[in-house]
Amino acid sequence: MSSIIIAALHCFLFFAFSLNNVNFAGSQIEEDFSFQNMQNTKGFELLFSDSKNIVLTIHLNPDADALGAALGFALVLHKKGHTVSIVSPNIFPDFLKWMKGHEQVLVFDKEPEACKKVLEQADVIFSMDYSALKRVGAVGDEIAKSSATKVIIDHHREPEDYADLMKWSTEAGATCELVFDLLKELDWLPLLDKDSGECLYAGIMTDTGGFRHPNTTQHIHEVIAQLLGIGVNGAKVSKLVYDTNTVDRIKLLGFTLSQRLKVIPAYNVAYIYLSADDLKKHNAQKGDTEGLVNYALSIKGIVMAALFKESDNMVKMSFRSVGQFSVNDFARANFEGGGHTNAAGGASKTMSLEQVIKKFENLLPTYKSELNKKL
Ligand code: 5GP
Ligand code: MN
Repeated sequence: MSSIIIAALHCFLFFAFSLNNVNFAGSQIEEDFSFQNMQNTKGFELLFSDSKNIVLTIHLNPDADALGAALGFALVLHKKGHTVSIVSPNIFPDFLKWMKGHEQVLVFDKEPEACKKVLEQADVIFSMDYSALKRVGAVGDEIAKSSATKVIIDHHREPEDYADLMKWSTEAGATCELVFDLLKELDWLPLLDKDSGECLYAGIMTDTGGFRHPNTTQHIHEVIAQLLGIGVNGAKVSKLVYDTNTVDRIKLLGFTLSQRLKVIPAYNVAYIYLSADDLKKHNAQKGDTEGLVNYALSIKGIVMAALFKESDNMVKMSFRSVGQFSVNDFARANFEGGGHTNAAGGASKTMSLEQVIKKFENLLPTYKSELNKKL
């Protein structure tokens, strides 16, 4: 990094931090500035001032927000003349396979050597929609040992301290919203087109639960209005994401709701569980259990809902809540997980499905007063 850039950065940081929600930790560029209180767009302008080899990484079990943010951003970065690759730890669901460029995503599980190679050659590695390296499995080891500049674009709570530059805010409903905001700050919105816009639309739509959760802010609606303004077809995206079920998936839903839903009224809790055998019998595909937890949460009076699912030799958990009850805190404290106040996840490789459920049920008395608070 040349001294001119460092001097420019010094000048800029003096004026600019805390003006917006871009954080600049600058461990590679400027040692003195500490994580989380640096705020600037200038860091991104400097980062993109010459053409770079960029790798965008997304979290395990990518959702529409992670994949949409990476693909939408990649399409724009490509137009700016950067070389961009996307690395996903594992495969993503079929209902996202309409996003432009999805077939170019490198999947670490399938092609570890190709992924390692692009990560080794990267000048810049982005963490899209996650900010803890354990969220990317083996990809995290490659990121940790890389000397590339590390950048986080994310809206999850309690980010780890590994990035040189961040666009991070828990106020954002979706990482796709943060990508849009960053493009706006960089004056790059004219480069956004229908294809990249539809990727961002999908992430915002799903992370707000179809514009229903409390994270559906005025700002989100303004971003969506601008996306519609450049030709994004919201109804098409909605149909592709929500209403392209297989018959197997609909039957899995019927089975789950009738056979695998347990309601515990004393704690305002409902949960769903699915064994590996249940999933196999219903020919469940990646993504088929997405959204199931919301049926448990939709029951009148329920404050916390959970989904416990046996897959890939672990028990994957999804937690959802309404109101003040923080499933982020709950998942973090008890299941090595995390996420947001009203939507979080976790996983266990050591406990069986039965053990996880038992632990969950045994924890409920501790949280009784919080779970019984009036909404
Ligand atoms: P989901 O239940 O849809 O898998 O995840 C809900 C939210 O929690 C998402 O924002 C997701 O990124 C986050 N999340 C899911 N699983 C984990 C996990 O194991 N650890 C952490 N820290 N966050 C998770
Ligand atoms: Mn997200």
